[in-house]
Amino acid sequence: MRARFNGKCVECGGEIKVGKEIIKNSKEKWVHKACSDLEDELL
Ligand SMILES: [Zn+2]
Repeated sequence: MRARFNGKCVECGGEIKVGKEIIKNSKEKWVHKACSDLEDELL
């Protein structure tokens, strides 16, 4: 999904800005889509 708020990616430590593609990782934390440790989106 696209971020609706500004946040921080717990994987790379980078900023997550509104409109960026984000996904939850295996620890239920929001990360960049490219940073996820999961293979597929769990939606
Ligand atoms: Zn990241």
